[in-house]
Amino acid sequence: MSEKMLTVVVPSYNEEESIPLFYEEMIRVYDTELKDKIDLEFLFVDDGSKDRTMEVIHELNKKDDRIHYVSFSRNFGKEAAIYAGLENASGDYVAILDADLQDPPALLPEMIRIVEEEHYDCVGSRRVTRKGEPPIRSFFARQFYKLMAKISQAEIVDGARDFQLMNKKVVNAILSMGEYNRFSKGIFGWIGFRKKWLEYENVERAAGETKWSFWKLFLYALDGIIAFSTAPLVISSVMGMVMCLVAFLAIIFIIIKTLVFGDPTSGWPSMVCIIVLIAGIQLLSIGILGQYMAKTYLETKNRPKYLIEEAKLQDKEIL
Ligand code: UDP
Ligand code: MG
Repeated sequence: MSEKMLTVVVPSYNEEESIPLFYEEMIRVYDTELKDKIDLEFLFVDDGSKDRTMEVIHELNKKDDRIHYVSFSRNFGKEAAIYAGLENASGDYVAILDADLQDPPALLPEMIRIVEEEHYDCVGSRRVTRKGEPPIRSFFARQFYKLMAKISQAEIVDGARDFQLMNKKVVNAILSMGEYNRFSKGIFGWIGFRKKWLEYENVERAAGETKWSFWKLFLYALDGIIAFSTAPLVISSVMGMVMCLVAFLAIIFIIIKTLVFGDPTSGWPSMVCIIVLIAGIQLLSIGILGQYMAKTYLETKNRPKYLIEEAKLQDKEIL
């Protein structure tokens, strides 16, 4: 028995096929490289799965008492699952890994070595390739990271995964950000601390299929922008100012033209275009404002980020 413990947090939504594969791989890595150094705790967060995920976890629990779990009353999303995992982890180090083996447990020994020997607080992982992903998806993902780098204070690294190992300090820092609209990639970047990045090649899903459609990813990207930047609000103001300036110059131009050349009635098609353009810009600006308002509204309600239906944790059992 060593004194330190590693908690492996696994957000799982409909992962009945992946979880046994994940468990096996994790145990293989642990038994070969980590057993003598550190204790292990699994913390599966069942995010309201509709398949047999919970039964699979119960079965594992029967044969291995290092298995702990939290099961949500419905699907609250991966962000909520990560929060629940961090909140209920009892290890000195916490790692977040996807159930589908896209975050290779084989990187964990190296991560632990870095945290222990090189005194980093946190070790992140980033994919250097996006092999096996639809090209359009990769393209938009890249653009998103470029845009975020320009407009946000949080450092968000291209290709960064949620897969990371952190010590208690970092876990507490993340938990102290109690916002309801959680964008983990932004939160991880915002908190700072000494962080080292490990790079690896993209791995395809072991089983099952991705829960992210293009549309879901698009909305997620918008959430990220709104959560970590107020630049869109500035865009509306700047557009408004430019429009006022253009209109002002146009008015002067028209007055002078009328005084010099008289007033032949003409140009109503261009007028319609201008009205439509300006109406469009106004609606867009109100829309942007509305997005921030909506988020503020949800934030002020202070709802719980997740609700537990059933859980088995280190020191308590909720049924
Ligand atoms: N996940 C979750 N709740 C959700 C969607 C996904 O807990 O609402 C989990 C999922 O089970 C997996 C991880 O988040 O362990 C990553 O999901 P996925 O593999 O579908 O995303 P991708 O790797 O394609 O980005
Ligand atoms: Mg995946």
